[in-house]
Amino acid sequence: MELKQLVNYTRQILQVDQFKDYCPNGLQVEGRLEVNKIASGVSASLAFLEAARDAGADAVLVHHGYFWKNEAPCMVGVKRKRIKFLLDNEISLLAFHLPLDAHPELGNNAQLARVLGLSAETNFGNESLVASGSLVVPQTLSDFSTFVHSQLQRAPLVIGDLNRSVQSIAWCTGAAQGYFDEAIALGVDVYISGEISEQTVHLARESGVAYIAAGHHATERYGVRALGEHLSHHFGLSHEFIDIDNPV
Ligand SMILES: [Zn+2]
Repeated sequence: MELKQLVNYTRQILQVDQFKDYCPNGLQVEGRLEVNKIASGVSASLAFLEAARDAGADAVLVHHGYFWKNEAPCMVGVKRKRIKFLLDNEISLLAFHLPLDAHPELGNNAQLARVLGLSAETNFGNESLVASGSLVVPQTLSDFSTFVHSQLQRAPLVIGDLNRSVQSIAWCTGAAQGYFDEAIALGVDVYISGEISEQTVHLARESGVAYIAAGHHATERYGVRALGEHLSHHFGLSHEFIDIDNPV
């Protein structure tokens, strides 16, 4: 298919124009104009690009692309290597950040809910990126944390009384520790995000809302993969999700 059609369709389903973001959403680097195979992954690291090239991808689809607001704009060092690699291999880079977090079906928050079996009364988006819902049955923070560990294949960092029962839940994938206040205001039992900061620990202890830091990378594996699968079915493209391990 034509690259242009792929870009336009993806921008449209993710409603890119509705977001004010810290990076461009859509086609960030243009490669060959005909696309037969796409590879998806969390971040456009060089290791990911090399794996995508080896897999024969014409275009890559990521959550963390390039050209972030406030980053040094010059094409030197690591940035030069990555972009040179894309141009030399004629691989297109499509990146979707906040629109991919928020999408009610393909988004990171929606897909994390699916992986963790969170309920459908889920509230996505509107003004906020924080989603909320509940566990199907109440369980101890300890049991739920063990479940999160097994589903995401990464040990979470948990702040809170492990013996307490939890059911109502709010979550936001990635580096969303800054939204913890919103979760506290919602009055939920537990909040899940990817990362945690020093001060977040005290907020959790003093508010009584448990905090599960389940990994930035681990919580954001699922949106871009779902988007890749959707595009693959919709356009008959071949698709491969490539996971480059990241301990954060
Ligand atoms: Zn992220």
